[in-house]
Amino acid sequence: MRAMISVRDAQSRILAEVDRVAPPEVIPVGAALGRILADDVHAVFDVPPTDNSAVDGYAVRGDDIPPSGVRELTVVADLAAGAVFDGAIGPGEALRIMTGAPMPAGADTVYPQELVERAGGRVRVPAGARGVNVRHRGEDVRAGTVVLPGGRTLRPQELGVAASLGLPQLLVRQKPRVAILSTGDEVAEPGDERKPGQIFDSNRFSLHGLVLAAGGQPTDHGIVPDLYDVLHARLSSAAATADIVLTSGGVSVGDYDLVKAVLQDAGGIDFWQVAMQPGRPLAVGRIGSTHFFGLPGNPVASMLTFHLFVRPALWKMAGRRELFPPTFHAVAMEPMSKKPGRREFKRGIVSYGSAPDGGGRWEVRITGPQGSGILTSMTLANCFVIIEEERGDVALGETVSIEMFS
Ligand code: AMP
Ligand code: MG
Repeated sequence: MRAMISVRDAQSRILAEVDRVAPPEVIPVGAALGRILADDVHAVFDVPPTDNSAVDGYAVRGDDIPPSGVRELTVVADLAAGAVFDGAIGPGEALRIMTGAPMPAGADTVYPQELVERAGGRVRVPAGARGVNVRHRGEDVRAGTVVLPGGRTLRPQELGVAASLGLPQLLVRQKPRVAILSTGDEVAEPGDERKPGQIFDSNRFSLHGLVLAAGGQPTDHGIVPDLYDVLHARLSSAAATADIVLTSGGVSVGDYDLVKAVLQDAGGIDFWQVAMQPGRPLAVGRIGSTHFFGLPGNPVASMLTFHLFVRPALWKMAGRRELFPPTFHAVAMEPMSKKPGRREFKRGIVSYGSAPDGGGRWEVRITGPQGSGILTSMTLANCFVIIEEERGDVALGETVSIEMFS
């Protein structure tokens, strides 16, 4: 009899097993999208490095701003973009300045060019506020502060901030290597002939995509027939060059003996019944020092168990701080059947709708039949609806938890 455990317990047991973080590597900023920063990045100077103009216009002394009417000032220089003015702005003087140019000494205010009237070497300025249109030194980043924390996933904005600090390269974690295999004599390769009783392999392809999307480096190890020697050889060779080996199929009560026999010889394995729907059977173990996950064969179940159990492990290995995505709440727009005692994951379509009181609210529907073999439910959905263990059937209008796919 195998142990029945909760989703939470399965997650914490798995994470407790992950004790290594991928080694760091230095890569160009331009190649770092989606990677995990290995260490904190500190600013070594202020950004911007000097006070500078926020507009194209005229830099003046605040004392020269007329309280009403206009005042005429002498333009001491016309500064081109990138040029720096060494002198100071005296009383009655103005400097023609471009966006981003350093503020000259003496000036604290910039008039946008469209508010002034230029005539030869003079400019007429109207009444206005002191100190406006100036960006201050260090207002974006202060020297010495942590700008990008280690463990952060690098998005386009993080790449831009790194570049603004003058960094051409970043220290990131190597991508965890994930070997993916399908098991089962009934599974055929897309493109090959499908014999009677066979189905085309979908899991290897959705898992490949899930690994890539999670920032791992997938390698394809094909379909393995239900034969001890072949499975043993293929799992061992996959494990030799991977941090994680993923299989799908062959872990349900009927046919787990083979995976169990191979893994017990190769490093150790635990079979769990997770109190969830879909995707109850799960095998977790080691092949040497490589982590092994035996996911259920049903296509929705293999994707969901990846999402719940493999991705957090992969992220921990990749040095990520956040291991779980946020959950949100939405109003159920239809009744949802639910058995108490297990966590159910339905494929949902969430959208923003109008509430009866005239305000707005997030609303969720399910995609139709929820069988764990119905993979198109995943293509129709944009979120999982999560119905917690203790709950029973959900009535129309009740609040449910959702987790967005992206
Ligand atoms: P199993 O976990 O091996 O008992 O498989 C459960 C169900 O998932 C069966 O209907 C299998 O045909 C199906 N299945 C197993 N592996 C795959 C795969 N790689 N792609 C699509 N369906 C699969
Ligand atoms: Mg099978």
